Amino acid sequence: MASGESVPSTNFIRNIIEEDNRSGKWGGRVVTRFPPEPNGYLHIGHAKSICLNFGLARDYGGRCHMRFDDTNPVKEEQEYIDSIMEDVHWLGFDWGEHLYYASDYFDQLYRHALQLIKDGKAYVDDQSAEEIRAHRGTLTQPGDNSPYRQRSVEENLDLFQRMHDGEFPDGARVLRAKIDMAHPNLVMRDPTLYRIRKVRHHRTGDKWCIYPMYDFTHCLSDSAERITHSICTLEFEDNRALYDWVLDQLGVYHPQQIEFARLNLEFTVMSKRRLLELVKEGYVQGWDDPRMLTIRGMRRRGYTPEAIRLFCERIGVGKKESWIDMYWLEKAVRDDLNTKAPRVMGVLDPLKVVIENYPDGQVEEFSCPYYPDDPPAMGQRRVPFSREFYIEREDFMEDPPKKFWRLAPGREVRLRWAYYVTCTQVIKDDQGRVTELRCTYDPASKGGGTPDGRKVQGTIHWVSAPHAVPATVRLYDRLFSVPNPGAYKDRDYKEFLNPESLVTLPGAMLEASLAQAQPGQRYQFERKGFFYADPVDCAPGRPVFNRIVTLKDSWAKILEQQKREEARAQREAKKQKKKG
Ligand code: ATP
Ligand code: MG
Repeated sequence: MASGESVPSTNFIRNIIEEDNRSGKWGGRVVTRFPPEPNGYLHIGHAKSICLNFGLARDYGGRCHMRFDDTNPVKEEQEYIDSIMEDVHWLGFDWGEHLYYASDYFDQLYRHALQLIKDGKAYVDDQSAEEIRAHRGTLTQPGDNSPYRQRSVEENLDLFQRMHDGEFPDGARVLRAKIDMAHPNLVMRDPTLYRIRKVRHHRTGDKWCIYPMYDFTHCLSDSAERITHSICTLEFEDNRALYDWVLDQLGVYHPQQIEFARLNLEFTVMSKRRLLELVKEGYVQGWDDPRMLTIRGMRRRGYTPEAIRLFCERIGVGKKESWIDMYWLEKAVRDDLNTKAPRVMGVLDPLKVVIENYPDGQVEEFSCPYYPDDPPAMGQRRVPFSREFYIEREDFMEDPPKKFWRLAPGREVRLRWAYYVTCTQVIKDDQGRVTELRCTYDPASKGGGTPDGRKVQGTIHWVSAPHAVPATVRLYDRLFSVPNPGAYKDRDYKEFLNPESLVTLPGAMLEASLAQAQPGQRYQFERKGFFYADPVDCAPGRPVFNRIVTLKDSWAKILEQQKREEARAQREAKKQKKKG
């Protein structure tokens, strides 16, 4: 598939909306919402939900509300609210005037709770959270009715008022829905609607000391905003019964809850608790560490919003849990950058080469297109060439295996855009480490071909030594070295952190045109990957580049090899067993 955004593929939610529009169920309205809890930064899983909710609103001429689900004052902070709004905007979506907070509805929710009490549908329970849990029953056993379940409406109203007035300590009492302690769906066994929390709320201050629970708040917030399709992840499937129950009992506007499968991505963790732990305990350098699959991290790494949206579009929306291979995210990034990033040359791990027959002090300039596939698309720059240049250390082998087409003693290669050179001498230090190569060049091969039509197999990139721009290059890789670090029962996911997820190369040498690279620019360093001039650390004259992604999927090979080795070890073990 080419880069750019494709026509949205259809999915079961689109089918529901189209059917609703045909039948006139919502009068043609499509109103969705994105309801984050402001207790952490957004990650790639949230991006899926954002693209889905805002995308549906966009495609059906509706709107998507931004609503902060701020019902837990203990864990929530303004910092998170600000970052979430910034991240959604960065992803390319806008809620216009439709910014809401669940806390805006606290008065209304309180009145709804009073109504349920008056209707005999809710009661104040004096049991502790532990007691309530202990009497909830199991999937095969019904729960026990609370000893306080039969309180009169008057007593309940009085106690709830006093909970509201702050007469009781945290945890002393809760308000529960009166549904059915033998209900086959555990969510319906008299769920808690309100609890006492004598904590200051970042928006309502000290006004409240009782706070509504998620299940009670969410459906009524959706109702108040006249949402049509309330889209959530599959874990809330059982909660749908309660969503519907609350709205039905109160006889208010009733949106439809629809569940879809959350995004699970291999080689990363996504729970906010774990992301927070990685940041707080210093395993990464912050929420925007380029190895984190937070929106900030991906942004700092150099992913574009278009790439993330393309990924979300391609993985689609389904009803069955599944794991997505990181390959697909990286592929979307490659496909997006392929037509956007100019090609340049940068040597990450330099080895110096001197051309013995090239005139000392001579400098030639080659005009090189930024986008060789379609040169007019991005224009060109001039690249200086001289007697001394750098090549990638890994592009030379003293004793190469058969299919090594790069430089080796006596071998000839093509220098990209320049000349053919032949290695004539290898210079080493006391420890036997190669420090420099000597070579000759063929003046007739200017531009990369020769009159005699002689072929060379390899083409390597290079940077003229006197013109090179020293740079710091950071190679980022997957944060974990196994596909599902959280899946091991008796091992901590942090044991699987990839020790090579960040490799800093302080001595990279870039072509002269990159001296003035501006923070935020993206390039392809030929043969090495896509790179991003770090928006914080890069300054003109002092380039710092992050590798966004390699050009090919290097992990596919590694994993395949791991599998082969495991299989071989198993075969060996079997053989040994037979013998023994
Ligand atoms: P966590 O479990 O890490 O705390 P959360 O799901 O509680 O995350 P919220 O802030 O409540 O985080 O999420 C906001 C919205 O994003 C919700 O509608 C939720 O369904 C959606 N969302 C969160 N994670 C994913 C995911 N991995 N895939 C798809 N949607 C997600
Ligand atoms: Mg949540």
